[in-house]
Amino acid sequence: MRVHLIKDSDVGKEIFSEVVDLLKAIPGPIEFCYDSHNVINFDVDDYVENKVLDEKVFVNSKPPVASYSFSKRSSFRENIMEIFDEKESRPLKEFSFPFTRKTSTWTTLFDKCNNYRIDKIIPNNEFVLLLTEVSNTNNWFASLDEKMPFNGFIHTSDWNHFIKCQDSFPIAFEVIALLLQKHMFNDYNEVRTSLHIEPIGCVNDLCLEKKSIILKLRTADVCADCMTKLREKLSVAYVQHALLIMESLRVKMLFSQNFKQNVPLSRLVMEEKGKIILPEFGNIEIKLKPLEKTIYKFYLEHPEGVRFSDLRDHQEALSKYYMSYINDDDGDREYVKRVIDERIEKLVNITNNAAAEKVAKIKSAFVKAIGEELAKHYYIQGGNGEVKRVMLDRGLVEIA
Ligand SMILES: [Zn+2]
Repeated sequence: MRVHLIKDSDVGKEIFSEVVDLLKAIPGPIEFCYDSHNVINFDVDDYVENKVLDEKVFVNSKPPVASYSFSKRSSFRENIMEIFDEKESRPLKEFSFPFTRKTSTWTTLFDKCNNYRIDKIIPNNEFVLLLTEVSNTNNWFASLDEKMPFNGFIHTSDWNHFIKCQDSFPIAFEVIALLLQKHMFNDYNEVRTSLHIEPIGCVNDLCLEKKSIILKLRTADVCADCMTKLREKLSVAYVQHALLIMESLRVKMLFSQNFKQNVPLSRLVMEEKGKIILPEFGNIEIKLKPLEKTIYKFYLEHPEGVRFSDLRDHQEALSKYYMSYINDDDGDREYVKRVIDERIEKLVNITNNAAAEKVAKIKSAFVKAIGEELAKHYYIQGGNGEVKRVMLDRGLVEIA
């Protein structure tokens, strides 16, 4: 099974690569391909004017067929939501109504997939999934194409109105949901009539009320009925791979939402190129830029702590680390050396704010990934002008 992920020009490179990394993190038979240079463009003609007048319209999807009737939330769901509505680290984004936004019809979105398929000569049994910032006339998070079910789209914005975590988690989750839906049902009509209208925490919950997406993301489960259908249609290896990816996303989401805080601390592994992994926290990766990795590694190696004003004494070590995190395969070595020297000089110069800024970035990367409570054991802390240090027991630190 091969999945081609494509994006429009408004989807950030960072979020796109996060989604790809999350999907590729678990080895298995489902193959994810992407080409970050190939961007799908929308013309003025591709949009329909859409004014979102109020929140009620914004938070509900249109049912796929008019005859759908669905009862309002069950008490079961209310209870579940209550359990989940715990303290969380990131506030939900507020939208002020009314506002106008770019919206396309489903047909337009699927045409984009088809054009890409033709252009790149992608076989009809491989997926082409479009990640797009453009909303759609039915206001869905994601859907397959009725005519060509190996095409699909995932709407990449709005998530932070419904769930407090990195947008890449639910987006990656929807990729898996579409793959499963394609294989679970014989045709699109069956998809439409089989999705659960009342959310039960299954990957096939319809989520007409968009908020109920939280339930399916947090259970990351396939209900018994759907599992039976899935097993008939898809080989065990694929099912297993999809479930493992869903589970890895679920665990990462729980950590990032401060939901799992009373757990033993994870080891921190810093690989050769400065990639930071917390193995016992669902292998979550802490994404840092080269200069942030540089200063973080330095502080890991100095458990006693160092004041910003003393960083200058360690300029050589910092340059060495920075050098190792920079790709210097191509280009002028002299130039690279000069840039490194300039940046490290700026970092150790206490008359500017460079070190403090990097330390703040590192802190927010940890908080975003594992929540404030756990993060404080890992990030660099210390008051103004005081010694800064990482509190983590160095027995838990492995540096390659
Ligand atoms: Zn189900």
